[in-house]
Amino acid sequence: MSLRFACTMCGRCCHSLRLPLSVAEAQAWLEDGGEVEVFCEAIPWPEEPAPDNGPAWHKRKRSFAAVSGHLPVRVIVTLVAAFDGACPNLRADMGCGIYERRPTACRVYPAEVNPFVALEPAQKLCPPEAWTSGGLFQDDQGHWTDPGVADAIQRRRGDDYAEAEARGVLCERLGIHEAGLSNEGVIVYAPSRESLREALKDATETYKTPAGHVDWLLVSHRLRTMWLLESAGARATQAADLAGADRRFVSFLQGE
Ligand code: SF4
Ligand code: SF4
Repeated sequence: MSLRFACTMCGRCCHSLRLPLSVAEAQAWLEDGGEVEVFCEAIPWPEEPAPDNGPAWHKRKRSFAAVSGHLPVRVIVTLVAAFDGACPNLRADMGCGIYERRPTACRVYPAEVNPFVALEPAQKLCPPEAWTSGGLFQDDQGHWTDPGVADAIQRRRGDDYAEAEARGVLCERLGIHEAGLSNEGVIVYAPSRESLREALKDATETYKTPAGHVDWLLVSHRLRTMWLLESAGARATQAADLAGADRRFVSFLQGE
């Protein structure tokens, strides 16, 4: 099904966000005085997926190989610009104060980066009238018609793929080794600005494969998940048992 779209400049997508960033964008966000968090999630990965399993290969490219106890896992690390209320770059007229160098994720919205996720207008922040006017946004073959949006999607996806290993190095530098179970929740780390700046620089300059000896601890808030993980040989702990103010568990599941 094709979609029409015209941005109404309502500014809703520039408020109270967790905005995914590339390494370079995270460095720029920090330089501008913004806050950057590190989201960690892990996927049990006992074997490689079938060649035609596109969604699994998409996850594989976004992640690096690791272990949790005796269980092979893949870890996805997302650098996130975090703010509540208006974005620090949002102007009073709802324009972007850094428009020419805004993060790629801002250029993508409301399109989808994941090629296996369909755009659902009802899931987006845009008001209903944004979807009833304007030009063709996505054709009935699923192609994005705006070259700027299509290019931003490719760059966002490409950064996630190209930087997966570097983000593993970043975690090693920061001593990060806990992750939520993908589709269930994430561990959100809030390192100090200085340590994150140093680790980003280090990960970018060395740009090598994570050493791989880090034994990841998988965190869940569900007893059944804990039992399944431990049965599979993983190291697991309950979210309620996390100690320390430098990180927190955030559930993806509604009402939990
Ligand atoms: S950087 Fe600009 S486009 Fe992105 S959320 Fe902030 S104000 Fe909006
Ligand atoms: S929420 Fe949608 S309509 Fe509103 S400013 Fe963002 S992209 Fe435009």
